[in-house]
Amino acid sequence: MEVSRRLKSIPPYIFAEIDKKRQAAVARGVDVINLGIGDPDEPTPKHIVDAMKAALDNPVNHHYPPFGGMKEYKQAAAEYVQERFNVKVDPDTEVTSLIGSKEGLHNTIMAFIDQGDINLIPDPAYPVYKTSTILAGGEPYFMPLTPENNFLPDLDAIPESVCKKAKLLLINYPNNPTAGIADLAFFEKAVAFAKKHDILLCHDLSYPEMTFDGYIAPSILQIPGAKDVTIELHTLSKSFNMTGWRIGFAIGNAQAIKALASIKSNVDTDIFKAIQIAAIAGFKGGREHIDHCNKLYVERRDLAIKRFKELGWDIQPSKATFYMWLPVPKGMTSAEFCTEMLDKAGIVVPPGTAYGPGGEGFFRVSLCTNVERLNEAFDRMVKHAITFDMGKARV
Ligand SMILES: *Cc1c(COP(=O)(O)O)cnc(C)c1O
Repeated sequence: MEVSRRLKSIPPYIFAEIDKKRQAAVARGVDVINLGIGDPDEPTPKHIVDAMKAALDNPVNHHYPPFGGMKEYKQAAAEYVQERFNVKVDPDTEVTSLIGSKEGLHNTIMAFIDQGDINLIPDPAYPVYKTSTILAGGEPYFMPLTPENNFLPDLDAIPESVCKKAKLLLINYPNNPTAGIADLAFFEKAVAFAKKHDILLCHDLSYPEMTFDGYIAPSILQIPGAKDVTIELHTLSKSFNMTGWRIGFAIGNAQAIKALASIKSNVDTDIFKAIQIAAIAGFKGGREHIDHCNKLYVERRDLAIKRFKELGWDIQPSKATFYMWLPVPKGMTSAEFCTEMLDKAGIVVPPGTAYGPGGEGFFRVSLCTNVERLNEAFDRMVKHAITFDMGKARV
């Protein structure tokens, strides 16, 4: 049998590949420390788990859920964004459920990108932006994110010929993998750009609650008129420690929400009602758990900065996400450095190139590991002389 050209056109899912290497090391008996995965290590809050347990016992919830999400779920999502961002959305027409943002991204791309269309995506970025574009027959156009531009794409640098073929602009702040943040001025610019070129702007808002040092992440829908051209993808994965549950929602432009929901209704049958009911408990459960987790992330971030500095890295604390985006030692490629980290120290970190060609020269660290394990990781780096200077000999 032969697989489709479509499948052959995309690489294997990079994190599945990295995980294979991790598993192989574990099989060799290595005590692997995984600083690669962006998955909150703390459990899902008890009030959410309890709501799920109660919902499981009600047979009404065992049937097919309604397309686009339960009324109560969409209502609760709308109330959450109203309260959190002061953004008003109509739960009937401007909200639709998602099986997580990954699904939402793929189906938004399927709904807006045709053969030969351009999707404007950041580089580096969450890998789905690129691969789903290719699966749709479209062409990704990479907008570089660099420390010099504060990890914000330069929209003015996109050639007019590219803008003409573009159908979609994807952005993501707070940002994975760079931990960059955007202010309302940038969002305003992005909205104006989307209006000028008559394209859909899709904001992947995966980390609005994972913010530190007093920083509060905005919704792009706070920009007046944004709803004319914008949808925003929300997920409970990172905000409520629910990565395994698979639930999120999209809000914004009614026409785009309808298009997304229409694609979805042809490929999936929404989210188990008990999970939607559990998510409602998350929206209504207050911020205590969010604050608790953010305290842990700050503690780990500060520890990691201190220890990276001792190893020669010059880094500033980030205001959001549990990621650190660090340069690899001079004279080494990202892949070489990450291979050494695993082979010498038993530490998994993804190379920056996993997120696009612009990630060359960087690696990403996730702070989803407790301080004991984090310290152990740094002790191993010390022991094996993995420092920012280690590549010098090769230059
Ligand atoms: C984690 C993540 C996602 C996927 O989240 P799910 O809702 O679990 O599918 C999407 N985009 C970014 C930027 C992420 O970091």
